[in-house]
Amino acid sequence: MEEKYEVIVIGAGIGGATCAALLARRGVKTLLVDKNSIPGGKAITMAKQGFRYELWPISGGPSLDSRFAQVLAELGMQSEVEILTPQEAVMMMYRSAGSDQYRGSVGPAVPTPQGPTALLEVLALQAETLPEVARLFADITQMPAQQIDQLDDVTFADFLSRYRLPTPLLSYLGMWSTIVFVVPIDALATSEAIKTFQDFTRSGAARYHSGGFGRMAEVFCQSVERNGGKVLLKTRALRIRVENGAVTGIVTDNGTFAAPIVVSNAGLQPTVLRLAGEEHFDKSYLSYVKGLIPSLGIMGIRYFLSKPFFDYPMYLTFSDSAYLDTARVAKMNAGEIPDEMVVFNVVPARYDASLAPAGKQCALVGTLCAADPELPYAEALWNKLDAMVERLWPGMHACVESSERYSTSHVSRLTRDAVVPGRGGECVGLAQIVGQCGRHKPSARAPLGGLFYVGCDAGGYGCGTHQAADSGVNVADMVMRERLVRATVR
Ligand SMILES: Cc1cc2nc3c(=O)[nH]c(=O)nc-3n(C[C@H](O)[C@H](O)[C@H](O)COP(=O)(O)OP(=O)(O)OC[C@H]3O[C@@H](n4cnc5c(N)ncnc54)[C@H](O)[C@@H]3O)c2cc1C
Repeated sequence: MEEKYEVIVIGAGIGGATCAALLARRGVKTLLVDKNSIPGGKAITMAKQGFRYELWPISGGPSLDSRFAQVLAELGMQSEVEILTPQEAVMMMYRSAGSDQYRGSVGPAVPTPQGPTALLEVLALQAETLPEVARLFADITQMPAQQIDQLDDVTFADFLSRYRLPTPLLSYLGMWSTIVFVVPIDALATSEAIKTFQDFTRSGAARYHSGGFGRMAEVFCQSVERNGGKVLLKTRALRIRVENGAVTGIVTDNGTFAAPIVVSNAGLQPTVLRLAGEEHFDKSYLSYVKGLIPSLGIMGIRYFLSKPFFDYPMYLTFSDSAYLDTARVAKMNAGEIPDEMVVFNVVPARYDASLAPAGKQCALVGTLCAADPELPYAEALWNKLDAMVERLWPGMHACVESSERYSTSHVSRLTRDAVVPGRGGECVGLAQIVGQCGRHKPSARAPLGGLFYVGCDAGGYGCGTHQAADSGVNVADMVMRERLVRATVR
């Protein structure tokens, strides 16, 4: 006899785990399955030889009042994981044109009354540029929601061109766009950028979680079980079962399960094109789904160090030539690998000392690349990144006990199947670009009875993990409404 549930969630990434935890807490009989042995998806926390670490650099924004804090509170699980927002959180390092040195300044994870002093210090803006800079920040931080919604179709680069901004600030905003959304600044949708910028300005960025970033997904899974649901890890959904235009359950490599509602965290394209199957959708929806564009990828190196080399939890390095616009992405795709790039480095033990053996450290370094799991230039980019790390932090290599290189192929294997050529290794999910944001964002409710998408492809907004959690909250609300409607019209 197959087990019956009210809702099945495929995937315990941040989006799926959030959604399943909320549904179970609200009294819905929920099954959560994931193909991996640990929940967390792209934000998974691993354990090895006394270290706990994410597979790549992960840190979250907003710091305060995030979706994570709201969900923990609803689940009554605040004592299980502490939200970490250190005073000295981010070392920003900028190299201006004409200088061969990076200069750095450290900022907090939560805004202070003094304002963004670390940023202003590192950019060293000329006094005459400040009034225009102030005009931009005032416009962005105070823009009402209705006005923001009108900027779905304007790229962030075009929006910024309405101001006479100094090059260092443009370079910072280019770096911010590529690190926060992992898309080129001249494709990023301004509505998405401004909403997130407002959140970060109000509540900070650079949040982390005690026990590792992915600990949050582990706690959400515990909550599913505490509330009468079931979590099956090492269980891959092979197919979503469909009868008469509606889902009826899933077939996995660990059994068949029935439910009238299936929520998929496996990615919109894999869900439609592989799990449910093309035959259940009309041609125009299929061509829309196939044409959706993923974010870029992040690839890099994990360094395991014999001593605590880094002083801060996070490092962001940039210069005028390092952030990505579409022209620079095209050059990279043509095999022209830059010598200088944006480098993102997270040191988990600087957030939570228990994450490394005493006297050791792990540094997770990454830079941007295409989403293709079969990246042709991975080797060349790893080598240039390693050389760049040596320039940025001389002496670090002498402390390296071991290192591991990761790329988009690892991201795809861990999280989403590549069902469209060149896709699957994306860092975030669907790209937050013009044409795919705000009112153009794919609906989280599929055009197939009882099927929903959750995670970074639909239903949320914001930076990576926050977008996934936001989607988890919103899709849980949608499912509760769907359930109510079904109960009413039965
Ligand atoms: C290198 C890198 C660096 C990043 N840095 C940051 C950062 O600093 N800050 C930030 O906020 N975000 C960051 N992100 C992005 C962030 O991690 C993701 O956007 C977010 O975690 C995605 O969550 P999700 O719920 O959409 O899905 P995913 O994390 O993709 O999870 C999907 C889950 O579904 C499961 N699954 C898929 N198919 C099946 C199937 N058929 N059967 C069963 N299970 C299945 C997978 O195993 C996985 O657990 C980074 C991502 C990467 C790759």
